[in-house]
Amino acid sequence: MMLDFFPEDVKPHLIPEAKGELYYECLGCSAQYPIEKLLYVCPKCNQVLLIHDRNIKNLQKIPGSVWQKIFDFRKMLKTPALKGIYRYHEFIGSCIPLESIIYLGEGHTPVVEANETLKEMVGVSFFYKNDGQNPSASFKDRGMASALSSIKYLIDQDLVSDVIAICASTGDTSAAAALYASYLGPLIKSAVLLPHKKVTSQQLSQPLGSGAQVFEIPGVFDDCMKIVENLSSQYSVVLLNSKNAWRILGQESYSYEIAQDFDWDMKNKTVVVPIGNAGNISAVMNGFIKFYEANIINDLPKIIGVQSEHADPVFRYYLEPDESKRQFKPVDTKPSVAQAAMIGNPVSMPRVIQIAKKYNSLAGCQHVFFVQVTEQSIMDWQLLANKNGHIVCTQGGECLAGLVKAFKNNIVTNKETAILDATAHAIKFSEFQDLYFKAKIPKDYKIKPNPGNINLPSLILPDNPELAPSQKKRLGEKDFQKFVKDISDKIANKLNLKVS
Ligand SMILES: *Cc1c(COP(=O)(O)O)cnc(C)c1O
Ligand SMILES: [Zn+2]
Repeated sequence: MMLDFFPEDVKPHLIPEAKGELYYECLGCSAQYPIEKLLYVCPKCNQVLLIHDRNIKNLQKIPGSVWQKIFDFRKMLKTPALKGIYRYHEFIGSCIPLESIIYLGEGHTPVVEANETLKEMVGVSFFYKNDGQNPSASFKDRGMASALSSIKYLIDQDLVSDVIAICASTGDTSAAAALYASYLGPLIKSAVLLPHKKVTSQQLSQPLGSGAQVFEIPGVFDDCMKIVENLSSQYSVVLLNSKNAWRILGQESYSYEIAQDFDWDMKNKTVVVPIGNAGNISAVMNGFIKFYEANIINDLPKIIGVQSEHADPVFRYYLEPDESKRQFKPVDTKPSVAQAAMIGNPVSMPRVIQIAKKYNSLAGCQHVFFVQVTEQSIMDWQLLANKNGHIVCTQGGECLAGLVKAFKNNIVTNKETAILDATAHAIKFSEFQDLYFKAKIPKDYKIKPNPGNINLPSLILPDNPELAPSQKKRLGEKDFQKFVKDISDKIANKLNLKVS
């Protein structure tokens, strides 16, 4: 739609200007730092940072109903920079001019309602928001579009050059980082560190295909993370893990989209998120807080963070009801099919603690909950979801297992509607489905395949092996007719087909 046709109250706001006054703030000592610095932790106290905007008070002067209109009309613009997460520019990285924004098709992922069969099994009405339909097939693209746009902004201002970007990853961060870095071509090179044999082969192929330098390291993600932290504290590199506060900012778009997907009505809604390094749940809570404070939504949805029993440090922290007695203890992880969330020492734990506290206090009651689920339930619910029209990964299965658990524990009632984060596409994690179907999941995962959930291909061969076609040996006309009849009969028999 042409700019001229938009309503008068919306027109001046449609194309955002880079008016934001962003700065980093330390979660430990509250020190503030200029946004033009490449900074990941506080130089004084080594704590993680969050990005704030001094201009936010001015944004709150625009009525929430006008913001809703701005975002709804912005949907109709064809400007590439505003087609992804930057539709919410004023709330997401408002110091970045549109020319510096990188858009590879991320965000605005579909929201798909569960069918009656699945709803009945779960007991609660719910939707999946399919973040596996992002360009690198996981939600990490949201944070990466933000982090790489911020780097492009610094490059455009001649503040940095010859950038080497690095990250540690359980698979999806490296896929997204390598993809977005490759788009910036010679301006930026990327290197990723992966725990050897702890990412799927699909995930490993992604950064390789994008041309990143890929390093495999013995151990688990937490070990890779320590190496990356060591590198970034000693050398001039750009850190692309969610320690980088720009990642959190970009991932807040997930909440903005949910608000818009449901016509800004968050009453009786519950948002379910799997937790690994805890960057995503921090972003999701923060996003809803910002929209709530700007009166764009009138209610805060309930938030449920889900962890596997094999990697559950956040869940364990909140087991202690008395806030003053809570103590964070990292855990040693055990093998988990929710491998992208298999993290024992989440970098964003201080963010979760601070943001969840604010969230509950704004809501006026406990509104953030944490549940723990078994590996068995993760796999079984993932398979059941996908047998009912979804495309969720194991972490998406973890969300559904979490919703079921939360319903059982009366954290959620059937009066509510849940929105589940399908954080990656099913095919990224199909290796676990394969192991399950072949009953070959290693013992330490503690998963027994449920025969009802198993699905395997059947090879249909002719009785006479001589009568099988191949690329090398084509059959004569008569033999081929025999082959077609033989195999058709066998399939018709297996499918119990009736003659038409
Ligand atoms: C990274 C990731 C997670 C965990 O998100 P955190 O921000 O680390 O808590 C969950 N699912 C998938 C598919 C991921 O890639
Ligand atoms: Zn500090």
